[in-house]
Amino acid sequence: MRYVKPHYYDEFKCIADKCPDTCCAGWQIVIDEETLEKYGASRDGFSTRLKNSIDWEEGCFLQHGGRCAMLNENNLCDLVTEKGEEWLCITCDRYPRHIEEFDGVREMSLSLSCPVVAKMLLESEESVRFLAEEDEEPDPLEDEFEDFDFMLFTQLEDARNVLFQIVQNRDLPMEKRMAMIMEMAKEMQFCLDEERLFDMEEVIQKYADKSPVPVMLSGEERYQKIKNGFQVFHKLERLREEWTEVVAKAQETLYSKGYGNYAVIHKAFGKEFIAVQGEEKWDIFLEQILMFFLYTYFCGAVYDECIYSKVALSAFSVCYIQEFIMCRWFLEGKQIDRQRCISLAYRYAREVEHSDVNLNLMEEWLMSVFDGENKLEE
Ligand code: SF4
Repeated sequence: MRYVKPHYYDEFKCIADKCPDTCCAGWQIVIDEETLEKYGASRDGFSTRLKNSIDWEEGCFLQHGGRCAMLNENNLCDLVTEKGEEWLCITCDRYPRHIEEFDGVREMSLSLSCPVVAKMLLESEESVRFLAEEDEEPDPLEDEFEDFDFMLFTQLEDARNVLFQIVQNRDLPMEKRMAMIMEMAKEMQFCLDEERLFDMEEVIQKYADKSPVPVMLSGEERYQKIKNGFQVFHKLERLREEWTEVVAKAQETLYSKGYGNYAVIHKAFGKEFIAVQGEEKWDIFLEQILMFFLYTYFCGAVYDECIYSKVALSAFSVCYIQEFIMCRWFLEGKQIDRQRCISLAYRYAREVEHSDVNLNLMEEWLMSVFDGENKLEE
């Protein structure tokens, strides 16, 4: 088995009640079957409370006011306090660790939706590296990978390495890096759709040798694209009610008064916020987000053959996290520190990344854009 993880993976440590947020609220916590059985069989002073905190039909913890029934007012888990960490279900024990499974490969990541992970990643200027380890153990899930397309997976891994190379090329502004990876994704998707798998290798090689610089959008074209794309946020399921306000404010502030108004805010943001902290530093902040999404999701295209939407989702996330930050900066009297930027990044990740419904909807929409349909307009 081969195990891959980003270089900062082992540095994570949960800060529990010191966390500026909590991962035990705002989403359904599904309990795995083995743990459910263990909870059902428990017979001690805590078992009644535990059993009454579970929705047995759905197999998840009940929530009160959007918070897990086990979470107390000090943001500590009563189950851990009473019984110890070994009583956590897989979901709680694992979070914010995330595993993508492929035939003979486990890719581990830390979710951007956890404030500690977001801080660790987005305060760092070090280029992300990926560490791989191999052992002789056979894959315990071997039987589940009977139809696994190993050839496509290898090409995706090669392509992702080139995408990383482009994204981490700090000689180029971030906008160009994003345009390049979108072009590469498009070309790869065409090859895959037309079953020209060998041509994919040529595309990978072309971008590895020297990425062609695509034609950049004008300010107004970019605005129209961002404004149209923003509509997807109105279609997503809400995990936290507070996110509704973030979306509504961005809609009203940035996109309801036309291009002229947007251009003024965008220009001021560039001059008074990005330039003050240094364009290079700001690009590194965006680079880390882009690397996170590409690493976590790109190779999943081996299962659904949607290469384009994986890259587009990554670029989309970087683009709109910046838009949400720009909106906050403008509304808060142009005073916003790095911590507020990080907070918007992890709150975005919570809404988009932690709902399969939202992830599927976004990918479906992005593939429809690739196919020239744009399902948002239906
Ligand atoms: S969000 Fe992260 S730091 Fe906060 S309680 Fe959950 S795992 Fe710990």
